[in-house]
Amino acid sequence: MSETFRALVLERDDEGATQAQIRTLSEADLPEGDVLIEVAYSSLNYKDGLAITGRGKVVREWPMVPGIDLAGRVLASDSPDWQPGDAVLLTGWGVGERYWGGFSQRQRVRSEWLVPLPEGLDALDAMTLGTAGLTAMLCVMTLEEAGVKADAGPVLVSGASGGVGSLAVALLSAAGYEVTALTGRPEGADWLRELGAAEILSRESMSAPPRPLESQRWAGAVDTVGGVVLARTLAELRYGGAVAACGLAGSHELSTTVMPFILRNVSLRGVDSVVCPRERRLAAWERLARDLPREHLAAIRQVARLEDLPALAERILAGQVRGRVVVDLQ
Ligand code: NDP
Repeated sequence: MSETFRALVLERDDEGATQAQIRTLSEADLPEGDVLIEVAYSSLNYKDGLAITGRGKVVREWPMVPGIDLAGRVLASDSPDWQPGDAVLLTGWGVGERYWGGFSQRQRVRSEWLVPLPEGLDALDAMTLGTAGLTAMLCVMTLEEAGVKADAGPVLVSGASGGVGSLAVALLSAAGYEVTALTGRPEGADWLRELGAAEILSRESMSAPPRPLESQRWAGAVDTVGGVVLARTLAELRYGGAVAACGLAGSHELSTTVMPFILRNVSLRGVDSVVCPRERRLAAWERLARDLPREHLAAIRQVARLEDLPALAERILAGQVRGRVVVDLQ
């Protein structure tokens, strides 16, 4: 491999606007860390869209190499935990926000952030999952822990055509749940059915502010959009139901009442993938490698290159990306 490599670099101009450019770097440009990685694939997440466009205050250090996910091989390691040649992946921990991330052919990172590539997954599959897949799996685990059984009744997934949403649809249906997919893109209904959705609901049908309690519909839900949709989901939960809330693609606000909690015994559980403890992370990756039908991964991904990222960043924020974007860095 050559001495130099390519990376997408974000800088702030004099007006404070974010500028994204592909630059040629050398290893001396990389930050401190005890493991050097040759990155094979990364992926584009909603948060990367915010970083590249500068539309969210995601980037904490400048200049920044964005990309909250990466998968590849260890080139050099000062850690006893990793040897050259090891296949690894990394999601979260502030990478792509505070620390340089995956949109680079090489990256230097901290050994404790790395996860071994689970058996049965290659780097392309691992990045088709990425933070979105980890989050979707953590949501499934959260619903299980809340006592939502697969035969309990319909489970709602909001933002179903997005990365987390589509993977949650696939995972829940593979686990035997009856999945209703909520989407603003009814034209993708056939695709969502192929992933395992039993029913498709339009986003508009859940966009009106709810009364404190509505008719009981959902045994559980994975919510990636927040706002009115989450408020309505809570008001429509069946007795003892639970929502795993992980996203804010619609809104970070939540206007609700205590009624569903005190009269229907429901619970609202938060899900974080960024600093999720290592043991739970490893358990989630093991289940992702085992439980998700492989054909779904091929149906969910599109492969892009560094050059495509600025335009794709706009599209993911506009809710126009379907499934997952994997970034090929080879
Ligand atoms: P995507 O952009 O891939 O998916 C978001 C989906 O939400 C869209 O595809 C769309 O689905 C729906 N959507 C978009 N805009 C709106 C809107 N205005 N109102 C209602 N629905 C909307 O993003 P990701 O799947 O990567 O992330 C989803 C959310 O989860 C983001 O907020 C992200 O920040 C968060 N997240 C949180 C994590 C955590 O650790 N807690 C980890 C990963 C993501 P459709 O067209 O089907 O309606």
